[in-house]
Amino acid sequence: MVMNISRKIEKVVVLGGGSAGLIAALTVKKMLPELKVEVVHSVELGVIGVGEGTTAAFPRHFFEYLKMDPMGFYLGAEPVWKMGIHFKWGPQTQGFYYSFQHEYKSRWPEMSRNTGFYCTEQTPWLGIASACMAHNKVFPRKPDGSPHFHKGHAFHIENIKLIGWLTGECRRAGVEFTEGKVSRVERGAEGVEFLELEDGRQVAGDLFVDASGFRSELLGRTMGEEYISFEKSLFCDHAVIAGWPRTTEPVQPYTVAETMDAGWCWRIDHEHWINRGYVYSSRFISDEDALAEFRRKNPKLANEPRVVRFKSGRYKRQWVGNVVGIGNAVGFVEPLEATALQVICVESSTLADTLKDSLCEPTPSLIDLYNRYNSRQWDDIRDFLSIHYAFNRRLDTPFWRACQEETDIAGAAEIVRFYQENGPSLVADAVLFDPTNSFGLEGYLAMLVGQGVPHGKPWSPPPAEAKVWRDRLAAYGQHGARGYSAEECLSLIRAGKIKFS
Ligand SMILES: Cc1cc2nc3c(=O)[nH]c(=O)nc-3n(C[C@H](O)[C@H](O)[C@H](O)COP(=O)(O)OP(=O)(O)OC[C@H]3O[C@@H](n4cnc5c(N)ncnc54)[C@H](O)[C@@H]3O)c2cc1C
Repeated sequence: MVMNISRKIEKVVVLGGGSAGLIAALTVKKMLPELKVEVVHSVELGVIGVGEGTTAAFPRHFFEYLKMDPMGFYLGAEPVWKMGIHFKWGPQTQGFYYSFQHEYKSRWPEMSRNTGFYCTEQTPWLGIASACMAHNKVFPRKPDGSPHFHKGHAFHIENIKLIGWLTGECRRAGVEFTEGKVSRVERGAEGVEFLELEDGRQVAGDLFVDASGFRSELLGRTMGEEYISFEKSLFCDHAVIAGWPRTTEPVQPYTVAETMDAGWCWRIDHEHWINRGYVYSSRFISDEDALAEFRRKNPKLANEPRVVRFKSGRYKRQWVGNVVGIGNAVGFVEPLEATALQVICVESSTLADTLKDSLCEPTPSLIDLYNRYNSRQWDDIRDFLSIHYAFNRRLDTPFWRACQEETDIAGAAEIVRFYQENGPSLVADAVLFDPTNSFGLEGYLAMLVGQGVPHGKPWSPPPAEAKVWRDRLAAYGQHGARGYSAEECLSLIRAGKIKFS
């Protein structure tokens, strides 16, 4: 039986120097500078080296919560903007855009319903953000000609550059680093007493953050916390990853998620590199066949593809005794909505707030709430991803038939039932969605409307509304086409012509 923490926390040890460990260390140190924070990591074991798409929670965490300088991030991590996801999913059309703006939920003054009701398979975009995406533009142009640099965006960041920037920021903030492989963990009444490295050095602390990736050295292996698998909802468990150098192709400011025979393929654009990854289910395709399909559909691949294995699920509790898991050490869902860095940011800020508010003596009730809140986050993501699989009818393969027939849509069932009866009605918003659900009704509408899921209240707009719809989409298209490209915005930033408020 593990006791609760009885002593005041003065030193936090973070096991892991991947994005999870570094974000956790930076967040705790910046929010509680009085704490000693030490990162223990192994160069030999390395980091997972993937995780390049983010959500809008990422800039919120760094620039609003931690109040870090955006310019330092742009120059240090060299990101490009991600305005959403282009799903080549659902009916056999051009696919659909899911932007970070509220486009499916918005209700134009001239219309009797929200825009979700007017979308068809042919709708090319449904707001300025998606019109910009469709034209490879990042930010729209203001009336004075300057870019409207709004906050409804995320980033694509090369993992190695993100790690480099985070390491530098950690050092600047006063985080200490110890390199070495942990070979033994000393247990104590509260959980962990100290970590022992292969060369015999011992690293003690009051609170241990397990950011050791899929190894889950402390939460899983040492504390033996129960693991909850998401395999009934999410069947994919492998990815093969490679890319090619950008030459003349424009930077696409969105992630592409494209249906494949036994899964899906991402395209993530960086300034100088285009990253592709085929996420698939080993139940339905071998590594060799997945690689062959990946190569066939991506003839430009220029480096040797590498296979990464993963499982989707989470540990029952994230905080046990004096051990708090963050990142892959505590849970993982496959990257279809690129949510891992978002969850890491939320876990890290919740940890810092918990320490701050409890004067570094976290109470059992705070720890319990921490666990409930973070568990709900993981389950919400599983539920949302499950509908991507259950309703995608783009390809008729054994994998996709199994997805349609077998996917457990778990906590999404009530929302889907409501949609099937009532269509994209906003009435669902207040009752069916917890405020902490990061996708909310907008996300569900994007995926259900976008995939053409049939519902009981299709709306045939009267001629006057149909005309407003056509005219507005045409105007958005013109506006989108006039927007600023990623290349133009990068030049403006580097020339110091964008002022961050
Ligand atoms: C195919 C794929 C695609 C993904 N795409 C995205 C995406 O687009 N967006 C997104 O947000 N996320 C994505 N992710 C998830 C993302 O990569 C990770 O969640 C994120 O990088 C955090 O990883 P981590 O820090 O938890 O683990 P890791 O990067 O594996 O780091 C673990 C750290 O622990 C250290 N360590 C482990 N054991 C020991 C030991 N015994 N002694 C000393 N040190 C030790 C390692 O050296 C390393 O520093 C993707 C994941 C996969 C598998």
